[in-house]
This record gives sequence, C-alpha cells and structure tokens, in this order.
Amino acid sequence: MEGSTVKVAFYDTKPYDRPSFERFGGQQGVQFRFLEAKLNEDTCSLAEGCDAVCVFVNDDVSSNVIGKLYEKGVKVIALRSAGYNNVDVRAAFGKIHVVHVPAYSPYAVAEHAAALLLTSVRRIHKAYNRTRDFNFSLNGLTGFDLHGKTVGVIGTGKIGRIFIDICRGFGMRVIAYDLYPSEGIDYVSLDTLFAESDVISLHCPLNDDTKHMIDGAAIEKMKKNVVVINTSRGALIDAEALLEGIKSRKIGAACLDVYEEEADVFFEDRSGHIMDDDLLSRLISMPNVIVTSHQAFLTAEALDIIAVTTVNNILSYFRNDGLCDNELCYRCGNIEKCRSERREKCF
Ligand code: NAD
Repeated sequence: MEGSTVKVAFYDTKPYDRPSFERFGGQQGVQFRFLEAKLNEDTCSLAEGCDAVCVFVNDDVSSNVIGKLYEKGVKVIALRSAGYNNVDVRAAFGKIHVVHVPAYSPYAVAEHAAALLLTSVRRIHKAYNRTRDFNFSLNGLTGFDLHGKTVGVIGTGKIGRIFIDICRGFGMRVIAYDLYPSEGIDYVSLDTLFAESDVISLHCPLNDDTKHMIDGAAIEKMKKNVVVINTSRGALIDAEALLEGIKSRKIGAACLDVYEEEADVFFEDRSGHIMDDDLLSRLISMPNVIVTSHQAFLTAEALDIIAVTTVNNILSYFRNDGLCDNELCYRCGNIEKCRSERREKCF
C-alpha cells in the first residue's frame, strides 16, 4: 500500500475530534470517514471498503464485531484512547491488529485536577452563576487557603507527579501513596494519607486492587471536611459511600471528572432527558460537588498527540515494517509486557 491512500472508518466522531485528525491524516495520506455512529454489530457495515477503523472508549469492539470487520477486510483497529477494556484483544489476535495511544498530555489531566480543586475551595462555580445574575453577594462563598494544607496524592506516575509539582507551587505539604515509590516524594501508608490529608487526589489506575479504594471504611479514616478529587477512573470511588460521606458532612467537597457508571451518560448532551441515574443526580445536586464529564484530557495539545499517534500507529501497518510499539497483542497473554518486549511482527 506504499504511497496510496489509507481509508479509515472513524466511529463516534465528536466535533472536537475532526480538526486534528483531518490535519495530520491529510498530511500523511490517511483519509478518515467520520461517522457519528458508535461501532457495534449493526454499524460494522459502515466500514465497507476501509482498511482500518478508529474507535473510542464507548465503541463495542467485542468478538462478533471483530469477526464482521475481519470479513470486510479491515486490518487495523486503532483506539484513540489509552484504555482498551472495550476491546476483545484475544478475539482480535491473528485477525486484526489492535493499536492504542498509551499516553497523551499528562499536564492536561493534572491541570484539570488543579482547576477542579481551586474551583471548589474558592466557590468559583457558585460565584460564576451569581454574577451572571447580577447577584454580587459574598454570603456563603468563604473558601480556604491551600497554602500550608496537606494534599495526599494516590498514584505518583506521570499525572500524579505533575499534580504534586502544582500543589508544591501553592505551598502545600505533599504526602503520597504508591506501590512503586519515586525519588523526592514523602510516601506514607494509605491510612496515614487518609488521616492527615486536607485534600486527596486519585491518580492510580483502576484494577482489582484499586476498585472502590475510597469506600465507607476509607472515608471513615479521613479528616472532616476533606476535599476528594478523582480525575482517574470512576470505580476507584464507591459513589454511594461518597454520597453518604457528603450527607453526613464528613466530606467537605468532591471534584469528579469520572464516575463509575459514566459509560451510558458522559460525552452526550442529555439536557432534554430524564436522568435515570439517581445517584449521579443526587451527587450533582450537592452544592459542594463538581462534576465534569471525563474532560480532563481535553486540551488542544492532547488532541494533537492523540491524532499524530493514531495516524502513525495506522501507518506502521500500511507503509512501514508492520511493527508498532503501541500494539496490543494477546500473544503472550500479558498485553503490556508483550508490547514492550516484542521486536518482531505480532502475527
Ligand atoms: P501512570 O501509569 O504513569 O501512573 C500510575 C501510577 O499509579 C503508577 O505510579 C503506579 O505505580 C501507581 N499505582 C498502581 N497501582 C497502585 C495502587 N494499587 N495504589 C497506588 N498507586 C498505584 O499513569 P498516568 O498516566 O499518571 O495516569 C493515571 C490515571 O489517570 C490512569 O490510570 C487513567 O485512569 C487516568 N486518566 C484519566 C484521564 C481523564 O481524562 N480523566 C486521562 C488520562 C488518564
């Protein structure tokens, strides 16, 4: 396929996706067919005549879908996300290559966590609404200084470390918890972090060990009026326990960019609909809860990195040697290890 156009069906297109993909695709001879539909068994046919499909977190890339795409001659499934829990990587092995974007801008996510924190502690969300209504009263807007307060950071990888730098800029005392400590950070046990932190921010991945790490028992150990920030994955927090913590006045504020049941709600305009999720509705109704719909990654820089990486991932197969560092391969049963150590074609 050297030199010819590579055709890609781009599912679940949002307006903010198109400019970067059009620009970088156009420069490299990759032509995107932008589709509003999500990928599922019924929409596979929209990829007719395409060499690859490009998908996001809520597309269904299950075994049946993969089988249908394979029959249509699709060679590559390019995820424009890091997470791949919606892809049956085992079913794809030997049929279609699966590639993803392992990292975009960690600054985008860390800065969003900081934005949520400042908004919450200085009541900017309330003040914004008031002044738009020419209500210039300050009653109920008293915040607190971050300077001198303790922030507990759980997960000190790429994003957590940038968030720590930002907090140090505010003059906060930083303590942290991670399974794999880094130099220059004051690590404590999880219990100590819960007991001493005025602000707790989550930056670790979601897995069997971390699911609901913030539950009723953890909240019990926290300081009264603690501010909890989650820009990582929704299921790190037991949302029912969080709501109880807010109702009992134990939790001072919650800043949530992610929510355990977000898949059916986030990314879409539901303003004209009846909200079925009572728990999310109740959280949103609280004056000390700020919810953004998984937007922490959404900066111009991150969108460019996602587009460039995805275009390069696709071209690895059609123009280069077929080797792609960002391939998710089931061959050895350990996707991450396989990706980093493989030096020959996957299949
Ligand atoms: P990373 O892999 O660089 O860092 C994760 C850190 O968590 C590592 O230091 C790891 O050792 C640590 N960790 C693993 N298990 C742990 C445990 N049980 N307890 C404490 N720490 C543990 O990842 P990153 O790039 O910093 O991303 C962090 C998370 O941010 C991702 O897992 C992802 O869920 C989330 N994220 C969210 C958005 C968004 O738009 N909201 C965007 C990108 C990433």
